[in-house]
Amino acid sequence: MNEELFARAKQAIPGGVNSPVRAFGSVGGTPRFLVKASGPYVYDADGNEYVDLVASWGPAILGHADPAVVTAVQDAAALGLSFGASTPSETQLAELVERRIVGAGPDGGSIRPVERLRLVSTGTEATMTAIRLARGFTGRDLFIKFAGHYHGHSDGLLAAAGSGVATLALPGSAGVPAAIAAQTLVLPYNDLDAVRTAFAERGDEIAGIIVEAAAANMGVLPPLPGFNAALAEIAHENGALLILDEVLTGFRVSAAGYWGLSTNEGPAYQPDLFTFGKIIGGGMPVAALGGRAAVMDYLAPAGPVYQAGTLSGNPVAMAAGIATLEGATAEVYAKLDATADTFSSAVSQALTAEGVAHTVQRAGNLFSFAFTSETPRDYADMQAQDTWRYPPFFHAMLDAGVSLPPSVFEAWFVTAAHDERALGRIVDALPAAARAAASATPM
Ligand code: PLP
Repeated sequence: MNEELFARAKQAIPGGVNSPVRAFGSVGGTPRFLVKASGPYVYDADGNEYVDLVASWGPAILGHADPAVVTAVQDAAALGLSFGASTPSETQLAELVERRIVGAGPDGGSIRPVERLRLVSTGTEATMTAIRLARGFTGRDLFIKFAGHYHGHSDGLLAAAGSGVATLALPGSAGVPAAIAAQTLVLPYNDLDAVRTAFAERGDEIAGIIVEAAAANMGVLPPLPGFNAALAEIAHENGALLILDEVLTGFRVSAAGYWGLSTNEGPAYQPDLFTFGKIIGGGMPVAALGGRAAVMDYLAPAGPVYQAGTLSGNPVAMAAGIATLEGATAEVYAKLDATADTFSSAVSQALTAEGVAHTVQRAGNLFSFAFTSETPRDYADMQAQDTWRYPPFFHAMLDAGVSLPPSVFEAWFVTAAHDERALGRIVDALPAAARAAASATPM
């Protein structure tokens, strides 16, 4: 059935998919066409059940089709799908987000760097708007991004991007005007000297820095301790802004995202803008940008930087986001951390038993594995690993009923619904998968 569905999809949809990584391009074989998902499981059109470690690429933090989220969506849908006008639920979701982004401030106080939030529909829109806002606010054009970081698919952010761009080994994308690409300075991750040099050379032209709060689109690669804080300091010394992209990490690795983890470990730092997505929509299309009022109030209609959206803040999506955030309690985060420990150790032990060199890449409860014995530090290191060990590993797991991200350059996602049964399936599948990785040869 999956083969037939894929063949038919390829006739109707470019490459048969609506987002490139889904096509299994880097692992080969036929993508599974899913028809149902529940808790930690997804089900394909042939009725096969898989333990899912993709979680819709992050949103399903409570598990698929969480009853409270589904009920909230059903109740909201019954009242109308979209009004194209203001709704109370938009403010409710914005307030929830603003309250959660709290961290330790100077003198034992606390800081809440998200004073205003603008809701959009995708992470791409959130980062694209955040960049425009930073440019409008500073009156400067250039932006710094880091190689291997993915911030969605707007023109200026595709250079040396992670996720599907990394998976397909693309330098960027056709169709991006050279004049636009020239506005993005791509620097190596975790390299503060490169950032300082860029500011020394072109500081008065640089509007800001955008960084994944912890890189998770080239596989997981956390920032070196203090890296994000130093970015904030360098940006602010030079009159530029720091955009912390928490589309993937936000509300996943802690109630206050990766910023919450990193700022509380110190040194404390204050990004000017945050971008969120995935979990704040609980599986519906919701994303947002937020930050200090002085910057956010530059957005129309309060200020001169334009942004809009027909479906922005639509009430069904708001209901899913609110129910998901309300369900993501301290107990849920403790469980996700414990599950990530258990799952990543099980995988690592199986790889070690077969003599497969690897590092366990962690950023809070996000993890992935790099097939190398050296701890990677940047995108070049991630690309230099034995990537060819992943496809046979991936397929052995899939054949045994475990659905992993179909690329070595993606994070694995656990949910609050993963339990002993799901772990048992993973543990049973691992020895054969580790053997497949061990016996793989370079393609
Ligand atoms: N930023 C980060 C860090 C992401 O991981 C993603 C998507 O994976 C995006 C932005 C883009 O979000 P979307 O796919 O909703 O456009």
